Amino acid sequence: MIDGFNFTVDVIRTNRVRSVSIYLEGEIVKMRVPKSLSEKRIREFITKRTPWIKTKLKEVSERPLVKSKEYVSGEMLSYLGRTYRLKVTHGNETSIKLKGRFFSATVLKADKTAQETIRSMLISWYRQHAEIGLSKKTEYLAEIIGVQPNSITVKDYKSRWGSCSNRGDITYNWKVILAPQPIIDYVVVHELCHMLEPNHSSRYWKHVERYASDWRDCRNWLKTNSHSMCI
Ligand SMILES: [Zn+2]
Repeated sequence: MIDGFNFTVDVIRTNRVRSVSIYLEGEIVKMRVPKSLSEKRIREFITKRTPWIKTKLKEVSERPLVKSKEYVSGEMLSYLGRTYRLKVTHGNETSIKLKGRFFSATVLKADKTAQETIRSMLISWYRQHAEIGLSKKTEYLAEIIGVQPNSITVKDYKSRWGSCSNRGDITYNWKVILAPQPIIDYVVVHELCHMLEPNHSSRYWKHVERYASDWRDCRNWLKTNSHSMCI
């Protein structure tokens, strides 16, 4: 722990890194530094990054609190940027369906952990739709961009929307499909353009600009809304 700043920094010393990285975990500033780095250098680094830290802390504090879901009738759920109401009924078989403006969940009356049942049904529903929807979208945009991904999969990423390996294996966070279509398109374009340029250089962003000219707005949208994109 480093003090003397008007925020607390949790310093993690490790042999596993050669350079300093700084990030936020909730409202806590964390810093990973090489074991041998002096406290003086750490302080210098924090001072240099203070404007960035303050901006990030402000962002966190201004976020509206997101209530965790209870999976009961009336609750709102997002899909492709639209909101749907959850309707829970009892029946002989468990199921989940998207019908009109509703996510209709059926659970057994005797189910003592119905909320957990609904949650896992929802997750597999979303994952399945993400896999189909994102594959289609990726194939479509890959043709326009002129690249050929090796594989397209979805995963439960904690803090990223997608990745693209240098072999062209594209993986998406399935939660992307909670977002509106233009945002999804941006995420797909973002990953596909890494097949042209495997970094975030200005050359890379020029490619992105060609296929998703609103990429800045999309990136901001994801930054602002990611905390509420949860099931
Ligand atoms: Zn990227």
